[in-house]
Amino acid sequence: MPVMFLYPEFEVSRNTDRCILCRACERQCANEVHSYDQDEGCMKSDESRCVNCHRCVSICPVRALKIVRSNHTFRPNANWPADTIRDVYLQAGTGGVLLGSMGNPQELPLYWNRLLINASQVTNPSIDPLREPMETKVTLGKKPARIERNPDGSLKTEMPPQIRLSTPIMFSGMSYGSISYNAHESLARAAETLGIMYNTGEGGLHEDFYKYGPHTIVQVASGRFGVHKAYLEAGGAIEIKMGQGAKPGIGGHLPGKKISADISATRMIPEGSDAISPAPHHDIYSIEDLRQLIYSLKEAVAYTKPVIVKIAAVHNVAAIASGIARSGADIIAVDGFRGGTGAAPTRIRDNVGVPIELALAAVDERLRQEGIRNEVSVIAGGSIHSSADVVKAIALGADAVYIGTAALLALGCHLCRSCHAGKCNWGIATQREDLVKRLNPDVGYQRLVNLVTAWTHEIKEMMGGMGINSIEALKGNRLMLRGVGLNEKELSILGVKYAGE
Ligand code: SF4
Ligand code: SF4
Repeated sequence: MPVMFLYPEFEVSRNTDRCILCRACERQCANEVHSYDQDEGCMKSDESRCVNCHRCVSICPVRALKIVRSNHTFRPNANWPADTIRDVYLQAGTGGVLLGSMGNPQELPLYWNRLLINASQVTNPSIDPLREPMETKVTLGKKPARIERNPDGSLKTEMPPQIRLSTPIMFSGMSYGSISYNAHESLARAAETLGIMYNTGEGGLHEDFYKYGPHTIVQVASGRFGVHKAYLEAGGAIEIKMGQGAKPGIGGHLPGKKISADISATRMIPEGSDAISPAPHHDIYSIEDLRQLIYSLKEAVAYTKPVIVKIAAVHNVAAIASGIARSGADIIAVDGFRGGTGAAPTRIRDNVGVPIELALAAVDERLRQEGIRNEVSVIAGGSIHSSADVVKAIALGADAVYIGTAALLALGCHLCRSCHAGKCNWGIATQREDLVKRLNPDVGYQRLVNLVTAWTHEIKEMMGGMGINSIEALKGNRLMLRGVGLNEKELSILGVKYAGE
């Protein structure tokens, strides 16, 4: 069926007085928007192909280009906004599921922005982070209820395997396949320099990156792509992915055209075949089954590495987390409904799951009430935008956070939300060799190091302002937060008072 003509979402505005016909935009656009018209001696644009990734705008040497949102409009209708009409047309034409990338773009409450951080005045002096010690190190994993020492002072209590981080920020799971080799390298190197962890996602680990093992979380997802003994042994921690915030309840799909020779070898699947990870793990139908997988993985690495269980934030997330804590997991990662992804059905991405802020508060509260909070650490992910969000997440009960979209932005992503097409003009979400080269891993690495370093400075400043000198003292300290524009129910789930109280 032909797709009904739709006026393009974006327009290319080219200043012909400035344009010097260098054709850089033509060469740089993987979507083939720009072309040179020999007959007319000018540049032309096919705007129907434009995804507004800003590559041409950034590369144009004379600033002749702007991409603007088209002001062509449907007749205003509060019940049928333009995007909704567009989606119906598209599906009527193709009969297919609509695919999108990155996180939920809908206007739903962003609770981080309705939480305000405390600061000391008069009686509880603030701490100057430039002159006084400020501890941002965190340890993730089971914490013994009591520590015992031998007469000589050495530790008698046997410590379980843990992760040590210089700052409570990690890079969330992004598979080699969904992102490029150069993006993966940038993340791995930055994690090592920063003393934090990055995460393989469900794509296995390229042999070039085994050297970053202690800073690598190796993921085991339902497709088991690239999972073998050496892979598990290479990482500093193992993560079982039960769910993902961007697409709770469904599996993943990496199209066959993205499965190059290198990715096929890393994932251990045939070249060119679709990589489809099923919605459930076919060996997990209960907490007891999950426990078996956790202990199988622990056994495979001789009980030397902590096991993380990652879940999407869904309606009964606190009860699920309680079950996971009792199943032997060392760490629970909760991914909120704004979490990013390389590809997801847009209906799922935009309508399924719950905000991380509420999920995190509910999980921390439940684990405390049940007296098992020290049995697991909690990682929060899914829309951490800034150091302030990190501080708020820690105060709501997280031990650390995962950042994904912010890390990609640091690498140069312009959030065009077209990763699923595999033609990322910034060399991030693509496997096309000519495009991958556009991301210089030395630059990517440095920008990631800069971002996390800057956030860590800001975290120290905010903690100092509160009169708190360690992440450990901030963890779960909800008295350091106040709500604005929230109703009683929201305040009660978040466990915070209203501003002014
Ligand atoms: S990159 Fe700029 S100057 Fe070069 S052809 Fe395109 S619009 Fe013209
Ligand atoms: S990674 Fe690339 S394709 Fe994906 S949103 Fe960012 S710029 Fe667009």
